[in-house]
Amino acid sequence: MPSHDKGKGKLFIIGTGPGNLDQLTARARNALGEAEYIIGNAAYLTPLAELLGGKQVISSSMGREVERARTAVELAQDHRVAMVSGGDPGVYGMASIVLELVERTGRVVDVEVVPGITAATAAASLLGSPLSGDFVVLSLSDLLVPLEVIEERLSAALSMGVPIVLYNPKSRGRPHNFSRAMEIAGRFRRPDTPVGIVKNAYREEETVIITTLREIMDCNDEVDMHSSVIIGGEESRIWKVNGDARGIITPRGYHKKYVY
Ligand code: SAH
Repeated sequence: MPSHDKGKGKLFIIGTGPGNLDQLTARARNALGEAEYIIGNAAYLTPLAELLGGKQVISSSMGREVERARTAVELAQDHRVAMVSGGDPGVYGMASIVLELVERTGRVVDVEVVPGITAATAAASLLGSPLSGDFVVLSLSDLLVPLEVIEERLSAALSMGVPIVLYNPKSRGRPHNFSRAMEIAGRFRRPDTPVGIVKNAYREEETVIITTLREIMDCNDEVDMHSSVIIGGEESRIWKVNGDARGIITPRGYHKKYVY
């Protein structure tokens, strides 16, 4: 029988935001405070160091997600456990695998998914307002999704004309997915389409680059697994102040209705 009546355990699946404590929500901070065990990828635990005093910390490496999720579900039978996930836990994060394991093991635990600021909006904020309305988020990682499917989805998204945020644009294991994606983008969007690269948003070594589809491959070396890339939509443009390129905006369309 699932042990759901002990009433002691709780499993928080916490989004820690882009990586700076200032960007952690108050709920995430309180949930971390309540937890006895904190489990997560070492990269997400490091920025939280000052909140981990007195906790049992279980840190694991990338690629051990299933194992980590299983440990969390088991411990949460009797303990207050926080599984941390960067950004938002429901966006290419740990929430789904943890919920699947709760379902499969029949271990009924009290689960709370605590949302966090995802890389798309963190990156967008540093560029100005490139998303503004409808947009698409795609991951170029082919670890769990075949490359053909990623390319089909990318073409479909590009044909919609809306801005696209690319997560996992490049890693050592798949250095060519990004250049291939930019080649496909060039078939659908104008060469002067603005492109923003945001690397390590709200972390040390934060880098923001504003360029265009025509010149994007000049910045190829800047793009890595810590970057998000925003390809502008048909209405996106470089945001200039006194002639200087300061960011990217996608107007919501107020100019069509109002005079300002
Ligand atoms: N759950 C996370 C996404 C995990 S996928 C979230 O909601 O943000 C990992 C990808 O997210 C990275 O390859 C990168 O594309 C993006 N990312 C995560 N943190 C970032 C940051 N601080 N700056 C820029 N991109 C980031």
